[in-house]
Amino acid sequence: RAKVTLGQSVCFYEAGMDEKARWRRQIASDLRFAVERNEMHLLYQEQRSVLDQTLTGYEALLRWTHPLHGNIGPDDFIPIAEESGEIVRIGEWVLRTACLEAMHWPSDLKVAVNLSPVQLLKPDLPEVVTQILLDTGLPPRRLELEITETAIITEKVRALHSLRRIKALGVSVAMDDFGTGYSSLDTLHSFPFDKIKIDKSFLLQSETNDQSRAIVKAVLALGRTLSIPVLAEGVETKMQLALLVEEGCNEAQGYLFGRPASAPSLQQGSDTASSRRAKSAAKR
Ligand code: C2E
Ligand code: MG
Ligand code: MG
Ligand code: MG
Repeated sequence: RAKVTLGQSVCFYEAGMDEKARWRRQIASDLRFAVERNEMHLLYQEQRSVLDQTLTGYEALLRWTHPLHGNIGPDDFIPIAEESGEIVRIGEWVLRTACLEAMHWPSDLKVAVNLSPVQLLKPDLPEVVTQILLDTGLPPRRLELEITETAIITEKVRALHSLRRIKALGVSVAMDDFGTGYSSLDTLHSFPFDKIKIDKSFLLQSETNDQSRAIVKAVLALGRTLSIPVLAEGVETKMQLALLVEEGCNEAQGYLFGRPASAPSLQQGSDTASSRRAKSAAKR
C-alpha cells in the first residue's frame, strides 16, 4: 500500500510541478509581446514630505492586463520576466514611459522608477538611462531609481560601478525595501544612496508589534546618523504617520495619502499652483 501511496503522491506532485512549469513558460512567452500589445501600463503613487505633507514625487508601479488571465501583479510576473531576461526590454519601456509622463508634471516633482537587479547588471544601463533622459527631455535630478539589495549582494563590484555612473548623471538612487535584505549596513556603507525606503512590512506591523516599531525607529536613527533621508512605505493610518512625525522621518508613501493611480486622475488630484499650469499646458 505504501508503494501505491508513494506512487500516487509522486505522480500528483509531478503533475503539480508540470502545471506550474507550464504556466511559467506560457507567462514568459506572453510577456514577450505584452508591451507591443499595449497590455502594460503604469500607475503612480504619491510620495509626500512627512512634516508639511507636500507632494515630492510619484513612484511608477507596473501593471499588466493579460488578455486571458486579467490583471497579474508585478510580484507574480516580474520574477518570470527576470528569469527570461525580458525585464530588460520591459524595464526600458517603464523608464521611458515614466520619464515622458513626468514631463507633464510640475517641475519640482520627481519620478521614482523601480529597477530590477537584472537591469542593473547590464553593462549598458548608464547609456540607456542617458539616452532616455535625452529623448524625453527630463532633467536628471527629477529621476530617482529604486533598487533592492539583491543586485548589490550578488555582484557587488559590477552593481556599484553601474550605480556610480548613474549617479554621475545627476540621477538619484534609493535603496528600496530596506530591512528585508541580509547585509543592509554593509551595502549602505559601500554606496552613497540618496534615500532609504523602509520596507512596508515594518510600518504595517508597527501598531501591533513592538519589534517592528523599534525597527522603524532604528532605521530612522541610522538615516540621521548617515545623513541619508528616509522614506517610509506602506503608511496606511494616522497613527503610523504620527510615529513618523515623532521620529523625524523625511518622507512617506502609502494608502493614507493615496493608492497607486493612473496618470490622468493623478493630474486632477495634484494640489500645487504649478500643477494647474502643467495641466493646462498638457491640454493644449
Ligand atoms: P515596491 O517597489 O516596494 O512598491 C511598493 C508596493 O507596495 C507596491 O505594490 C504598492 O502598490 C504597495 N503599497 C503602497 N502603499 C501601500 C500601503 O499603504 N499598504 C500596502 N499594503 N501596500 C502598499 P505593487 O505595485 O504590487 O508592486 C510590488 C513590487 O513589484 C514593487 O515593490 C516592486 O518591487 C515591483 N515592481 C513594481 N513595478 C515595477 C517595475 O516597473 N519594475 C520592476 N523591476 N519592479 C517593479
Ligand atoms: Mg519601489
Ligand atoms: Mg519597496
Ligand atoms: Mg517591494
